[in-house]
Amino acid sequence: MTIKLDINPIKAWLPNINNPLLISGPCSLETEEQVLATAKLLAKDDRVHIYRGGVWKPRTRPGSFEGVGSIGLKWLQMVKQETGLPVGTEVANAQHTEEALKAGLDVLWIGARSTASPFVVQEIADVLKGTDAVVMIKNPVNPDAQLWMGAVERIHQAGIKNIVAIHRGFTPFRETKYRNYPNWKTFIELKRMLPNLPVICDPSHIAGKREYLLEISQKAFDMGMDGLMLESHLDPSVALSDAAQQLTPANLAKLLDKLIIRHQTANNPDFENQLDLLRNRIDSIDSELLEMLSSRVEIVKQIGKYKKDNNVTALQINRWTELMENRVNLGKDMDLNETFVKILFQLIHEDSVRMQTEIMDK
Ligand code: PEP
Ligand code: MN
Repeated sequence: MTIKLDINPIKAWLPNINNPLLISGPCSLETEEQVLATAKLLAKDDRVHIYRGGVWKPRTRPGSFEGVGSIGLKWLQMVKQETGLPVGTEVANAQHTEEALKAGLDVLWIGARSTASPFVVQEIADVLKGTDAVVMIKNPVNPDAQLWMGAVERIHQAGIKNIVAIHRGFTPFRETKYRNYPNWKTFIELKRMLPNLPVICDPSHIAGKREYLLEISQKAFDMGMDGLMLESHLDPSVALSDAAQQLTPANLAKLLDKLIIRHQTANNPDFENQLDLLRNRIDSIDSELLEMLSSRVEIVKQIGKYKKDNNVTALQINRWTELMENRVNLGKDMDLNETFVKILFQLIHEDSVRMQTEIMDK
């Protein structure tokens, strides 16, 4: 299902942008000096478009640094005045939103914990009504594209057209290499529902550690995302929040140097022709695949009838185990990913059993 919402492209509110959108700045604003010194360094790099900094920090457990509060808005105003960079912060309730709008911030974003709560999103949307704010919406902590989409719709219903979604990963259900696992398929689902919604990636909160920032940032560009939000700090080792994932502005520049920017198209007829040829081949292979699946279905039905006539069960677990082992091994010999082959045959087999039980119950 594709939904058409009149959401503006990034260029509509940031007309000078020619590269992917880059938002950077500290996880939390800590002191006036830190805020301004970081901003001045970032402003020297023309790849940085927007300065970010958390004023009110959503912490999982109480007792850790919860942000400097409203004074931080003044520091952001100073950044804007002194560097010319647009500034943004996270808002998590009506009062934050009112204060941030009053302070003239250029970008407001809704954090992952807030997106998970429709009440919170609605309360923010109600304050935004009648403004031309730029609102960014992080994914909810759980990989639910509908909930993410719902938040986008609530903000859009308030009349906001400058919307960007931010993919920041999802709470893992077990220990993983990343702090928040990047379930790319949830991003793809959102993009499928809302093709014209700009989506950027927040590798900092996905990674949790500096060492993974490059691979996630590159993956975001490979997936066609519209930009990045990367946390930066003058001295990450003493940061009051998210110390392990922040980069110094100098290391941010080094990371950006390494990234390969990809485009929706190459603007080159040779590339288009070659791509068309390859796509034609894929199209005919896909149609062969479907024909083969259809021949398989014919045989499954014959087996179903044969089992029915002999009062034999549709599901035969030994056969299933053998089949799976055999297919995974065959796949391995052909360099196919083991999980992919498993899932594929689980689906194929599940449907075979479904068809056979239907035949039996007729
Ligand atoms: C942040 O951007 O600093 C933040 C708290 O992000 P998230 O809502 O993604 O956890
Ligand atoms: Mn952070």
